[in-house]
Amino acid sequence: MSVHSLRGFRDLLPPDSTRFAAIEAAAREVFALYGYQELRIPTIEMKELFVKSTGETTDIVEKEMYAFTDGGGREVAVRPEGTPGVVRAYIEQNLSQTGRNAKLFYIGNMFRAERPQAGRFREFEQIGAEHIGNAAPFADAETITMLVRLLEKAGLAACSVELNSLGCAECRKTYRQTLLDYLKQRAEMLCEPCRGRIERNPLRALDCKVDGPWLAEKAPKLTLCAACAEHFTRVQDLLKISGVPYNVNPNLVRGLDYYTRTVFEVRSSALGSQDAVCGGGRYDDLVKSMGGPAAPAIGWALGVDRLAMLLKDKPVADTSPAVFVVSAAAAAQDQAFRLLAAMRAGGVSADSSNFTLSLKSQMRSADKSGAAYALILGEDELKAGTVAIKPLKQAGDQQPVPFADAPSAITKLLEG
Ligand code: ATP
Ligand code: MG
Repeated sequence: MSVHSLRGFRDLLPPDSTRFAAIEAAAREVFALYGYQELRIPTIEMKELFVKSTGETTDIVEKEMYAFTDGGGREVAVRPEGTPGVVRAYIEQNLSQTGRNAKLFYIGNMFRAERPQAGRFREFEQIGAEHIGNAAPFADAETITMLVRLLEKAGLAACSVELNSLGCAECRKTYRQTLLDYLKQRAEMLCEPCRGRIERNPLRALDCKVDGPWLAEKAPKLTLCAACAEHFTRVQDLLKISGVPYNVNPNLVRGLDYYTRTVFEVRSSALGSQDAVCGGGRYDDLVKSMGGPAAPAIGWALGVDRLAMLLKDKPVADTSPAVFVVSAAAAAQDQAFRLLAAMRAGGVSADSSNFTLSLKSQMRSADKSGAAYALILGEDELKAGTVAIKPLKQAGDQQPVPFADAPSAITKLLEG
């Protein structure tokens, strides 16, 4: 048997894994600034949770979900997105009763059985934020501002937000019928899946990868009710106060059923056809429709794989050890092992190869490791109770220091 990974699933090695970790660290820093707390949600949930919240007629549920019957006969699914799990937890854990804002973030892998291609994987990472229980436009502006600051912190300069409002259930009621009539008259122009679902959800056609572009130009547009129009204006005013650049894009519809009012996306043409880095929006009716309290909410999900692609030319943090310990004599091996422990206990990152290998081979590994210094222990050092420090990145002779002083001596050298 030859082992190999599944199509659409991949291994992340340095520097990619380092870059992912840096993005996550930047996100955590920004979330803390905005009062968000981490929620860790399960990877597998009841399939019904996604069908009901993400929506029956969405691509995710219709085509992309990894769903199966488990050993106990339960219909389950591996999460394709985070929001349904967060909403379930909010309801199940009574998070509306905690007396504080439910401002939650998650970091985790999502799974969708879509066609693998550049920027599209079957397992990918999302960083997501959900603010539940706040209907005011301040929440919209805050979460969008936070997203932009997070992208900046991660290293993505000058991104602009595409912004639109999808209105509320009220404004959509009449629009739904208008759009349905329009689509029905042109049914023969629609792709097969759209034809099949317009009766159930005509709005989905607007987000279809095939029909969306021409419908965006030709189909009748939604008119917002007075309250939704006011909300949308306020969001824009507040984004101006935050200094967040945005572009109102009336063709922006999002592929999930639960959105109401504000929707947004951050895109980058540098990504090619899979250009969305992040998407989000308000979902004022979802919590209630899932059996929870009437809790208006807004959130977004950021695709870490795509963000990492955009940052691929930026340097990542050096993961090389500071020092590389070398044993130059069989008798010095235990002392070398002791030295490794002492360095690490002193807060100095330290590595070694196999102490039983030749000095030459260990020195070769030291050079390859990227360490700034080799710490060499031979017969002489063992007798004298010292360690020899040898610079690897610049010229210079070996210098002996007392064994106990090695960590502080290295710390001084690294600082100087
Ligand atoms: P797309 O239109 O590219 O399919 P989407 O609308 O399905 O995106 P969302 O469900 O809003 O995406 O997810 C938010 C973000 O997650 C996207 O903007 C994207 O960066 C990322 N993402 C979604 N699907 C994938 C995937 N299969 N592989 C990698 N990243 C993904
Ligand atoms: Mg998609």
